[in-house]
Amino acid sequence: MTWRNTETPGWNPLPKSRDKENGPATHLPPLREVIARYGLSAQKSLGQNFLFDLNLTRRIARSAGDISGKTVIEIGPGPGGLTRALLQEGARVIAIERDTRFQGAMEELADTYPGQLTLVIGDALEQDPLKLCPAGETPEIIANLPFNIATPLIFKWLDNAQQYAGMTLTLQREVAERIAAAPRSKEYGRLSVMTQWQCSTSALFKIPPRAFIPPPKVTSMVIRLVPRGQPLATADPDTLRRAVKAAFGQRRKMLRSSLKTLNVDTAPLLEAADIPPTARAEELTVEQFCALARALDEQTEPVAVTDLRADP
Ligand code: SAM
Repeated sequence: MTWRNTETPGWNPLPKSRDKENGPATHLPPLREVIARYGLSAQKSLGQNFLFDLNLTRRIARSAGDISGKTVIEIGPGPGGLTRALLQEGARVIAIERDTRFQGAMEELADTYPGQLTLVIGDALEQDPLKLCPAGETPEIIANLPFNIATPLIFKWLDNAQQYAGMTLTLQREVAERIAAAPRSKEYGRLSVMTQWQCSTSALFKIPPRAFIPPPKVTSMVIRLVPRGQPLATADPDTLRRAVKAAFGQRRKMLRSSLKTLNVDTAPLLEAADIPPTARAEELTVEQFCALARALDEQTEPVAVTDLRADP
């Protein structure tokens, strides 16, 4: 739904034209006023840590490159700090927000940027952003993610990673480090393998807790994920997911033990993938995990009915 013609008593009339530096966002009330007007106290359970610094939100928006005229999915616009920057850069924004209290503030933004903002009220975990976009669009996700659901959201989007232009995400630094981690580091895990299989990752800049209201306990980081065009190596996604989950499920154990949860004979499986049976999950590269997944598929592939028939 796109809102238009929202009457906001007491506001100056807004200019019709948009200018990237001095556009209508400068005529919008300060975010603190929006918060006060709508009584928007931050809810911890919804991971609400707001960004009010417009230089910072502009920097995040510009980290995705030129988004003018492009479709951007924003998760959790809240009072609209980052949303303003995205709109000012000329993006067409589809914002998914769970907390209905922000609807009024979003309506005002939609009125200021006619035709550019669509708000979807709902749980981002249950939405497929691709289905919300016009057909044929390759959207960018740009979001200051609610910390508590950042990881499940990223796993979900990775299922269709190649259909996005990119993902520019503000996350807890610890999650960003896990995404970009290299093998043999303690941060390397499921999130690293599944992300790097599909995307190249760049850590862009840190944001200190004091930049948010209220300040979170930890430092945040802005990262950008760009789909590779095609995954790093061939593997069936479900099989890869199963193999990686089993391997990191008991990350301190050697793979010959940890992979037993897959209900397969682990020695021939590892031999077929050319992986030493004494290796541990954190030592494998993404390509080796893919080799493991391919070997797993070969070992568990159902035998074709024709193969079972005795020769006449
Ligand atoms: N974008 C705003 C900013 O940068 O100031 C707010 C970011 S705040 C970290 C996270 C936002 O995500 C909040 O507005 C919160 O209500 C919203 N949120 C939390 N859980 C959500 C969910 N499951 N689906 C959609 N939005 C959610």
